[in-house]
Amino acid sequence: MNSLHARYPFFEAARDAVRDADVDLSELIAAEDPAVERAHERVRRSLLEGTARSETPDAWTETQELLSYPVARILVSLLNSAPAIEKYAQAEAKTAIDRLQTDIEADDDELRSTSTVRLDRKRLLRELGLSAVIVPEPTTGPREPAWFRIDVGPYLELSSSTWREKWKLVNRELVDGQVRVERHELQKLLQKAVTNQVQAGLPFEGLENNPISDALEAELADLNRLLSQRSTVGAIDFVARELFPPCIENLLQKAENETQLIPVESFTLMAFLTGIGMDADEIVAFCDASSLDPEGIRYQIEYLKDDRGTQYPPPSCETLNTYGICHNEDEHWKQAGDPLTYYKKQVEQRRDDVTDWRETRS
Ligand code: SF4
Repeated sequence: MNSLHARYPFFEAARDAVRDADVDLSELIAAEDPAVERAHERVRRSLLEGTARSETPDAWTETQELLSYPVARILVSLLNSAPAIEKYAQAEAKTAIDRLQTDIEADDDELRSTSTVRLDRKRLLRELGLSAVIVPEPTTGPREPAWFRIDVGPYLELSSSTWREKWKLVNRELVDGQVRVERHELQKLLQKAVTNQVQAGLPFEGLENNPISDALEAELADLNRLLSQRSTVGAIDFVARELFPPCIENLLQKAENETQLIPVESFTLMAFLTGIGMDADEIVAFCDASSLDPEGIRYQIEYLKDDRGTQYPPPSCETLNTYGICHNEDEHWKQAGDPLTYYKKQVEQRRDDVTDWRETRS
């Protein structure tokens, strides 16, 4: 087992490492091994913040980190929610691609000074079975290639019809049956390939009456509570910043002061703006004067939406309070349990006194 397995646990080699470690997962779960706690965090952060990274990476050994992945897959299977599985897989993929980027950018000095095994794109392509269909264009010197070519079939499989216009085949440069993509575009396609790999085989069947589900009762109760907090406030479709609850206004001001938002803060902000009916272009324009970058905004919005509309609205006031985002200003808790419900009530009361931001745009 090495650090690569812990950081990219969906690799075949990582699965082999788990097998070779000869660990009985049901015994590990029953014994409340720390890997279970990390698995719980893995799923929780995936659903709440769009990342599977730990908040306390130094708290876990490589073995616990690796073993938390199969336990997380059991947990997410037991949630019995297709959207939760999808969000979980997307978060694992996003985490993996961010790590790949870090590995690629690590300079030689760093490589020499650490024993961490790093991943390169070639290895990832091999692991995903894409080596033969994605090739870099020649480059001079040791620089990372700026362009890649991907066979048209895999391109169509990995890109989505819901992505922006530029992804449509008609808008792409096609050379000998291959589509040219820029490096950052390739990241997005690879992220989709990792999502597919993580999602494959989920949910596990036959877990319901298994002692494993009893042993994971507390973790499941917490995750189900998180899912049940999904608000059903219905369509709002009205944008008036002066009516936003203080938690959201504070986050906006923080971003506008060029302060970097932590993941749960940007998740909350994006979930709120999406929940009140704004689309990606509107949110990018609305946050134009902030530290939030347009690509990051678009990624999070994609993560938050599904075909049925907003899947993950902002967390409840109670949860935001535990993250220090809400200070229960003006006793809001008495008015609503979550920021969307609060805002909806404000809009219902004061709609005639304020103007929709969209109408003020030139
Ligand atoms: S009580 Fe709720 S709506 Fe009000 S600031 Fe706190 S989190 Fe936001």
